[in-house]
Amino acid sequence: MTEVRTLVAKHKIHIRKKLGQSFLEDVNIIKKIASLVAPAADETIVEIGAGLGGMTEELAKTAGRVIALEIDPQLLDVLRERFGRQENVEVLAMDVLKYDFSQADKGKKIKVVGNIPYYISSPILFRLLSFRQQVSSFTLMFQKEFAERVAALPGTKQYGIPSVMVAKYTDVSCEMVVSPAFFYPPPDVASCVVRMTVKQMEDDDPYEERFERLVRAAFAHRRKNILNNLLYAGFSKEALDIVFSQSRIAPQRRAETLSLEEFTNLSILLAEISNQNPPPKI
Ligand code: SAH
Repeated sequence: MTEVRTLVAKHKIHIRKKLGQSFLEDVNIIKKIASLVAPAADETIVEIGAGLGGMTEELAKTAGRVIALEIDPQLLDVLRERFGRQENVEVLAMDVLKYDFSQADKGKKIKVVGNIPYYISSPILFRLLSFRQQVSSFTLMFQKEFAERVAALPGTKQYGIPSVMVAKYTDVSCEMVVSPAFFYPPPDVASCVVRMTVKQMEDDDPYEERFERLVRAAFAHRRKNILNNLLYAGFSKEALDIVFSQSRIAPQRRAETLSLEEFTNLSILLAEISNQNPPPKI
């Protein structure tokens, strides 16, 4: 029997599929993912959804500290029993969507890893991106279809809001596809390990918030062209006419054909125009 199945039987774990529970039981894959993270002796690694602790144990072999987040009390009991005496592992009862990643290792960048619950992939991804200044890399197991969207290139069907936002802030790569057979219980879908290395950015980006608003508006209706989407989202016709003529981006194009550089260019031009015409103060 594998370690996962032994622990499930020993602790009479009731597997909660609703929490996305599918435990990785292949030791080689666990080792491969840990080697992608490459935890160093002076680093803190935050693991999302530690489950029964298979990955936690591997990470803790080389990491300075591992913070293992888990939401299910049954699994927290197992994790506490398993790592209670291990000084560099901290088990936290925590919903990942509430965790403040900036508290993990104040003043130092952390790494984040997780075979995450797929039902909240998108909120987890965007939450992590919001903490990118405190993180050097994210290594996450996603459902394969979602991974393809995260790493998609312009002009493809998968290219959308997650692709642009991830490309803006990280260098992304799909590292390996993992078949359901390597999990217990097996998920219904294939999975993929995605590594996102956070780009070094100079200071705070003053256009950051506008950029995300622009991208979300541009993709709101996939069959509409970018001009119509932006008009629909409330951008002014006059501003858009100027911006499109200056940017040399044809307003008839659809968002899915625009590169990261083109989105960046548009957002800067839009910001400059609205700075010239500040909205009336109330
Ligand atoms: N990392 C383990 C478990 C993966 S399954 C392994 O590879 O074997 C996903 C894990 O995320 C489960 O343990 C589940 O209980 C946990 N989880 C689900 N929702 C969560 C949430 N909102 N916050 C933290 N953990 C969560």
